[in-house]
Amino acid sequence: MSEFSLELSEDQLQLQKWVHDFAEKIIRPAGEEWDRREETPWPIIEEAAKIGLYSWEFMAEMMMNDPSGLSMPIALEEMFWGDAGIGMAMMGSGLAAAGIAASGTSEQVMEWVPLCYGDASDVKLGAFAASEPDAGSDVSAYRTRAVYDEGTDEWVLNGTKTWITNGGIAAIHVVVAVVDPDLGVKGQASFVVPPNTPGLSQGQKFSKHGIRASHTAEVVLDDVRVPGRCLLGGKEKLDERLARVREGAPSNSQAAMQTFEATRPAVAAQAVGIARAAYEYSLDYAKERRAFGKAIIENQSIAFMLADMATEIDAARLLTHRAAWLGKQRKFKNAEGSMAKLKAGRVAVWSTERAMQILGGYGYVSEYPVERWHRDSKIYDIFEGTEQIQQLVIARSISGLRIE
Ligand SMILES: Cc1cc2nc3c(=O)[nH]c(=O)nc-3n(C[C@H](O)[C@H](O)[C@H](O)COP(=O)(O)OP(=O)(O)OC[C@H]3O[C@@H](n4cnc5c(N)ncnc54)[C@H](O)[C@@H]3O)c2cc1C
Repeated sequence: MSEFSLELSEDQLQLQKWVHDFAEKIIRPAGEEWDRREETPWPIIEEAAKIGLYSWEFMAEMMMNDPSGLSMPIALEEMFWGDAGIGMAMMGSGLAAAGIAASGTSEQVMEWVPLCYGDASDVKLGAFAASEPDAGSDVSAYRTRAVYDEGTDEWVLNGTKTWITNGGIAAIHVVVAVVDPDLGVKGQASFVVPPNTPGLSQGQKFSKHGIRASHTAEVVLDDVRVPGRCLLGGKEKLDERLARVREGAPSNSQAAMQTFEATRPAVAAQAVGIARAAYEYSLDYAKERRAFGKAIIENQSIAFMLADMATEIDAARLLTHRAAWLGKQRKFKNAEGSMAKLKAGRVAVWSTERAMQILGGYGYVSEYPVERWHRDSKIYDIFEGTEQIQQLVIARSISGLRIE
């Protein structure tokens, strides 16, 4: 077990600098263009792949060889400090990889995770498809069905997924589907849909408020047949689990909570990165911009906004690092992962709005990045569990009651 420490190791300081340099030189300067184009920034992803930043090996290194759990949030904060739309275009594959790692056997992880990334000469994307038009927060309401065909040892998937990051353009889609409709959320399983599988197609592509460099679309599954080995965790394990649920065995909700909570610090760190970008930019601006014969930061009303921003961002980062460390030790007690995500999302929205205020008219126009960062920040109150769902998880955890 690793001790919690605010002091980063030499390796983590190097990692932070490495990602920061790439974010500063390559990601940040490209942010405006790809936001305007609303397209996947393939050339930037290729650049990241060339230096090994966009690769399954990098993800594996951070997930497996970091007892503190802090490397992932450190790297993501820097990447999203560069630009959240481009960051998300790359992290969509991380969601798919995490979905495979959460339920798959080690053979499945080795077979499918590398295909979510490809290699520097031929980069690929992954997508994690859970949400549906009528089921976002309410994960028990998914309707996409998976039916086993014993004759061919295949699973047949039918349904529509929506809001899927990299949906339809990914090489690998990880799809959550219902295998036993009588069992609600416990009757679901995850499947890998391999590249070019007939029947999987992209539906509507959404035009978004923010993170516009990240592709978001519907995914339509029309009699998609995948081999038996694409069921994550395998059929034997699924059959055993379903049998236990049918017999009324208590579910291992503590283990499930540890797994869900563990992914949230990574999302929180992204939000911290956006908030910090806006804070640093508006701090510099406030020192330069003059009104009434002095720099605007010499007014307490501006300086105090910046003081509050610095304090809130540090608070969000501390919650994020605590949650990342607790997640790694599997020691969550009171939904600390949800606390980090809730706080960081709010801080990102609030800080980017305050930054716009500090820039005045320049904060409101697209020639300056702050309005884009504000648009980008809002998604952190919505995806990966909305603000209200985080509150619900925390409320249930602290009270021990089934708060509705
Ligand atoms: C840009 C983007 C990218 C996304 N990427 C992915 C992806 O890659 N994969 C994927 O599977 N999904 C993805 N999503 C989906 C995202 O996770 C959902 O949008 C989110 O979970 C909310 O679901 P919903 O939109 O259906 O809202 P709803 O669940 O309908 O919620 C609507 C409102 O009601 C509130 N609400 C709902 N239930 C309760 C309750 N019990 N108590 C209090 N308030 C409640 C919510 O907080 C929200 O304010 C993405 C979404 C967006 C916008």
